[in-house]
Amino acid sequence: MTKQTILITGASDGIGAVYADRFAGRGANLILVARRADKLEALAARLRADHGVDVATIAADLANPDDLARVEARLRDDAAITGLVNNAGIAGETSFAEADAAHLTGMIALNILAVTRLSAAVAPRFAASGAGAIVNITSVTALMPDGFTAVYPASKAYVLAFTEALQAELGARGVRVQAVLPGITRTPIWDAAQLAGIPAAMVMEVTDMVDAALAGFDAGEVVTIPALPDMAAYDAYVAARAALRPNLSLARPAPRYL
Ligand code: NAP
Repeated sequence: MTKQTILITGASDGIGAVYADRFAGRGANLILVARRADKLEALAARLRADHGVDVATIAADLANPDDLARVEARLRDDAAITGLVNNAGIAGETSFAEADAAHLTGMIALNILAVTRLSAAVAPRFAASGAGAIVNITSVTALMPDGFTAVYPASKAYVLAFTEALQAELGARGVRVQAVLPGITRTPIWDAAQLAGIPAAMVMEVTDMVDAALAGFDAGEVVTIPALPDMAAYDAYVAARAALRPNLSLARPAPRYL
C-alpha cells in the first residue's frame, strides 16, 4: 500500500492535534497547518520521535488569501498527499445584534471559504486517481441553527451540506468523504469558565471525540456524530428531508398561496 500523507488544518491544538497524534500512530506521514509555528514544530518533533513518521509544518493563516493560496498550491501539487482534514475553525461569536463584522468575516473565511478552497485543490487529483479522503469537521450546531449563535452554526451547516454534496459526486468516484459533527468537546476553543458552566454530561474529552470520529471513518460513515447514541435518529431526519423532494419544485404554487 502507498504510504498515507495527510494534511490537517488547525493541527496546533485541540481536535486537530489529536488527529495528528492518531494518524501518526497509524503510520501516516503528516503536513500540519496552523498559525502558531512554534506549537506546530513542537508537535511535529514529538510525533517524529514517537512514531517515526515524516511530519512537515506550514505556518499559515487560512483566513488570509495569500496564506490560503500557499496551502492550496501544496495540496494541488504534492501528489503524495492522500488525505485532507479540514479542521481549523473558530467560534467566539456574540449575539448578532452586537456582532463585530470583521470577526464574522474572518469566521466565514476560515470556516467556509478555506474548507471549500482546500477541498477544491485536492478534488481533481483525488477524483482522477479514484482514491483519497476529505474529512470535514463541522459541528452538531449544523443541526440546530436556532439554538446557538447566528453565523457559526450557519457556517457549520454549510460544511455539512457541502460534504453531503461532495459525497454524492466524489464518493461515486472512489473518494472517501466524511463530515464529523462534534458536540461540546473539551478544547481551547472554550475557555475554562465557559466549560465550567456546562453540565459535565454534555462535554466530551477530545481524545474520545477524535477516536469516535476515526471509528466512524473506518466504518465507512459519511456523517459521524460521536455523541449520538443511535444513528437511526439521524437517518430518520435525512429520510424526512428526502420525502420533501418530489414537491419542492412544481409548476404551480401550492393552493394556500392562490
Ligand atoms: P481549538 O482548540 O481552538 O483549535 C483550533 C485550531 O485551528 C488551532 O490549531 C488553531 O491554531 C487553528 N486555527 C484557528 N484559526 C486559524 C486560522 N485563521 N488559520 C489556520 N489555523 C487556524 O478548536 P477545536 O475545538 O479543536 O476546533 C476544531 C474544529 O472543531 C473547529 O472547526 C470547530 O468549529 C470544531 N468543533 C469544535 C467543537 C468543540 O466543542 N471543541 C465542537 C464542534 C465543532 P492557531 O491558533 O495556531 O492558528
